[in-house]
Amino acid sequence: MICDVCKAREAEVYQPHSGKRLCRKCFIEDVRARVKEESLKIGLDKANKILLAVSGGKDSYVLADTLASFIDTQKLIAYNITEGIHGYNRREQIEQLRKYLSSLGIELIEDSFKQSVGYTLDEMMKYSIGKGLNVSACTFCGGFRRKLINNAGRAVSADYVATGHNLDDEVQAIVINLIRGDLLRLIRFADKPIKLSSKFVLRVKPLRKVYEWETTLYAYYSGYQFQELECPYISTRPTLRAKVRELLYMLEDKKPGTLLTILEEFDKLAEKVRNQTQLKEELPTCKICGEPTSYGREICKNCELLISAGLLNYHQNLPMS
Ligand code: SF4
Ligand code: ZN
Ligand code: ZN
Repeated sequence: MICDVCKAREAEVYQPHSGKRLCRKCFIEDVRARVKEESLKIGLDKANKILLAVSGGKDSYVLADTLASFIDTQKLIAYNITEGIHGYNRREQIEQLRKYLSSLGIELIEDSFKQSVGYTLDEMMKYSIGKGLNVSACTFCGGFRRKLINNAGRAVSADYVATGHNLDDEVQAIVINLIRGDLLRLIRFADKPIKLSSKFVLRVKPLRKVYEWETTLYAYYSGYQFQELECPYISTRPTLRAKVRELLYMLEDKKPGTLLTILEEFDKLAEKVRNQTQLKEELPTCKICGEPTSYGREICKNCELLISAGLLNYHQNLPMS
């Protein structure tokens, strides 16, 4: 079968959402074109500096590679966090990532929870369980990761922080926030980012129109040696996400293109909501760490988690040894 685009090479990929059969080269070009379109829409090409949050997983390789195909890599800087998860964080993975990024001309900054929070994720979990808290590792991990990524973006004066979230991740998050009825959080998932605090660096997701199976295939065709191990905490992930994921796959299977349609319709809706919603004033800052926190809160969720796990003394604002 011949590729529907170049009409020259043998087709290897069938894209259910477009109905096209593509050769490897045209498939790679198709993914890059979608990433570029999404990025130009938010003005990434005009940025002076973009921080890429890279985990070492396949999506972070695809993020760096697709952006490097149309943005001067001098403007890109990568940032990786070692969470401190026994058996999962491995030195050679970071070295692979560094090597690949350097081949694209992108510098990698390394950080860790231990260095910037004071504890590894394993330590946070040990103390949290010891205190009888019922908080999943992903809650600790996601919250601190967001905070450190934002801090890193600010430290290098980045105009944007780009993450490797793909279409599947985005639509799952939208549906979960719809179910929770959290409107303010929900419109943050729209294509154009909003800034609720001067301390936030705008977050963008250039892969948000690319299916997860496509990032997997892109990584496979490109021969990346990405992190393939599964995080040992994944089984403790909140179950709502797993259920939503399953439901969305079922819908996509019945009607290919469903995820893309949901995201595109959501973007249109979010634009209307944003124009009509009086966004509140700047977010308050946490009394302890000084970072933005939700409206009505004095202490951010991250500091609150450390306090409840007995890892931060509220009065002295110091990590406890
Ligand atoms: Fe962190 Fe949870 Fe992902 Fe593991 S599965 S890396 S704990 S968010
Ligand atoms: Zn082709
Ligand atoms: Zn705080």
